[in-house]
Amino acid sequence: MAKCPCGAGKYHKCCEPYHRGARLPASPEALMRSRFSAFSLGLQDYLLETWHPDTRPELDLTDNPRWLQLQIVESWQRGNRGYVHFRAFFEADGQHGKLEEKSDFLKEGPRWYYLSGEIL
Ligand SMILES: [Zn+2]
Repeated sequence: MAKCPCGAGKYHKCCEPYHRGARLPASPEALMRSRFSAFSLGLQDYLLETWHPDTRPELDLTDNPRWLQLQIVESWQRGNRGYVHFRAFFEADGQHGKLEEKSDFLKEGPRWYYLSGEIL
């Protein structure tokens, strides 16, 4: 695959090293990008691994739409807390849609985790 689903570059230089476990995302935004790509590619294990254990759901990607594009509106980190406001564009049943969310991230040890999100 040439282009990374998250749109930031070539897959093998962008999110693939995270998906393979060769590298850890160094920022909440990098983790968010890799999670978008994982949704796009249907990488359920990676999504669960990067979901904080306190809020990790039963994940079922059966009805996962086709994720087309990610837009980062804003992101920051302070200490072990992180925040990403994003828009994700998808297609499901021939309809185009958009998910806009403000997400919280938490760093424990060397790893960032997705904690929760507020859908706008
Ligand atoms: Zn990427």
